[in-house]
Amino acid sequence: MTNVTDLGTVYSSDVLVLGGGIAGLHAAIKIKETDPSLDVLIAEKATTGTAGKANKGAGVLQVVDESDDLDAYVKFNVEDSGKYLNEQDLLRKYAVTTRTVVKDYERWGIQTMREADGSLSRAAGLPYWCLTAVDLDLLFKMVDVAKKLGIKFVNKVQTVELLTQGEKVVGAVGFNIVTGEYQIFKAKSTVLATGSCCWNVMHMWTSARGDGIAAAWRAGAEMRNAEFSNFYNVGLPGGNGVQVGSQHSLYNSKGQRLADLGYTKPHECDFNIGIFLGMEKEVMEGRGPIVWEETEFFNDNPLGVGGFLFRWVRPWADIFHHKEMDKENKYTVDHRWKPIVHPLFIGEFGAVKTNGNMKTNLEGLWAIGDTSRAGSGWAGAVPSPSRQRGSGLSYASVTAIWCHEDVAATTKTLPEPEINVEQVAKFKEAIFAPLKVEKGYEVRDRIHCIKEVVAPPRFSVRKHFDRMDEALDKIHWVQENMGQIALYNDFHLLGLWHDLKNMALCAELYFTAAMERKETRGWHVREDFPETDNQNWLKWIDLKNDNGKIAVNYERVPIEKFKFRPEGF
Ligand SMILES: Cc1cc2nc3c(=O)[nH]c(=O)nc-3n(C[C@H](O)[C@H](O)[C@H](O)COP(=O)(O)OP(=O)(O)OC[C@H]3O[C@@H](n4cnc5c(N)ncnc54)[C@H](O)[C@@H]3O)c2cc1C
Repeated sequence: MTNVTDLGTVYSSDVLVLGGGIAGLHAAIKIKETDPSLDVLIAEKATTGTAGKANKGAGVLQVVDESDDLDAYVKFNVEDSGKYLNEQDLLRKYAVTTRTVVKDYERWGIQTMREADGSLSRAAGLPYWCLTAVDLDLLFKMVDVAKKLGIKFVNKVQTVELLTQGEKVVGAVGFNIVTGEYQIFKAKSTVLATGSCCWNVMHMWTSARGDGIAAAWRAGAEMRNAEFSNFYNVGLPGGNGVQVGSQHSLYNSKGQRLADLGYTKPHECDFNIGIFLGMEKEVMEGRGPIVWEETEFFNDNPLGVGGFLFRWVRPWADIFHHKEMDKENKYTVDHRWKPIVHPLFIGEFGAVKTNGNMKTNLEGLWAIGDTSRAGSGWAGAVPSPSRQRGSGLSYASVTAIWCHEDVAATTKTLPEPEINVEQVAKFKEAIFAPLKVEKGYEVRDRIHCIKEVVAPPRFSVRKHFDRMDEALDKIHWVQENMGQIALYNDFHLLGLWHDLKNMALCAELYFTAAMERKETRGWHVREDFPETDNQNWLKWIDLKNDNGKIAVNYERVPIEKFKFRPEGF
């Protein structure tokens, strides 16, 4: 009989955290602080501390502090942005928990941006919350805290599948991306913190390839709100997104400001889908290209976010923004003060369905941070972080806080899990099988095929049954032909092969849910169903893995129990 140790290196822990980004680190620390007797291990694809998204961004942090009007915050996010699809209790709880996030950060030596009087800094013009900032070394500080607490790390492991014992998740398997070694993680509880799927379109979002979400789906985890996976920024061709607030400084070729043409509200605090529909309309009707009035953005911005981040010395952020981003922007084709801009696809598929403790429908599995940003239902009819900048970091940390007590308490009650050696062996065979293909197509070409059907506005800004059908056809074709991709025995390409498989699955789930929602609501715009239909579609769309087929279920939003309701409800 085969022993599990004959198949690969085995790691055992009480709690396994998959993904060492901000959500994973924050959760691991909180769990260990709550119960130091628990053995906590983080398994990360890259290197914990430098991996993930939190150290690549602007470092703005959304906080709804004691001086903010909590009710107004919830009302705005339900009526203006989430369009009544929000889990309103969770949204309110999120807002309150952002205060604990700041306390945790400061306790761990992460500096938040404060005024001389000690209050949190805020960009003028943002309604009902403040946007403070953190330096981009926050993950290094968390790693230091985690090490002191005795949390263990396994880096450079691409986890591919979750291990199960009946309906329960008992760990994961994957491979070392450098050596190719098969690695087996056995745990009583697993916290999924592997981020969202951004389909490898934008350079700085490339760590988000949907690995954990796809593994959870294959193990039986349900998805919610998958149709809201179409986040766009305004972007410079060949370069980065421009800052939020730029929606007020966009002009058509006739010199008309898009905001004055009604595509966005006068004090809109973030990009909404209207601005992208407007950009497209102006171009299609001959008033393109759209340009960004950069001078106006910095000097006369209604949100006051133009120079906000530069008011404070943040050594790590300054290095990053001046060196890394400038390097990237060097390749931007348009360097004028009024550069041409376009809708820039980010994606953000994070649909793992969770309850208020971030537990999935599978025993032993919690999903936090970007993995569940749509799936928990708090944000409603928007791809996170739309309309709530700074909520990426906050939500990751908030959900780490929400899960930690449940994870710690549940783990304590569980016996040692049993590993199904047959399952471990079967996964090993399947994971490494693609390496053997010596002749065939290039994996990067196939990744490009997926990008081609998720990123263009015709698929993800304006949706129509026919185009989604076309997208799904291509996705299915890629899925059916995975066996024809040549990997030349290269472990780097093996990683990409699994990324492709996962990204294709995430795209399939996204369009399946989008086809199902036969109305227009928030960021989900259907040309063939242009109206919002509260009578029939005040529902969450849930997807379930039914023996390899996607089963669609609905849950009515319990609108009568919530404070904010559409007219007539
Ligand atoms: C350029 C940019 C700017 C941003 N600016 C801001 C901002 O200013 N404010 C804000 O609030 N938010 C911002 N965000 C969003 C924010 O950074 C994210 O929402 C947040 O960091 C998500 O944290 P996470 O831990 O859930 O996911 P991630 O940071 O994506 O971490 C997931 C981790 O899992 C690892 N992983 C993935 N697959 C596997 C696997 N198979 N096995 C093991 N490990 C795996 C990844 O390597 C990664 O380290 C920005 C994001 C980007 C990209």
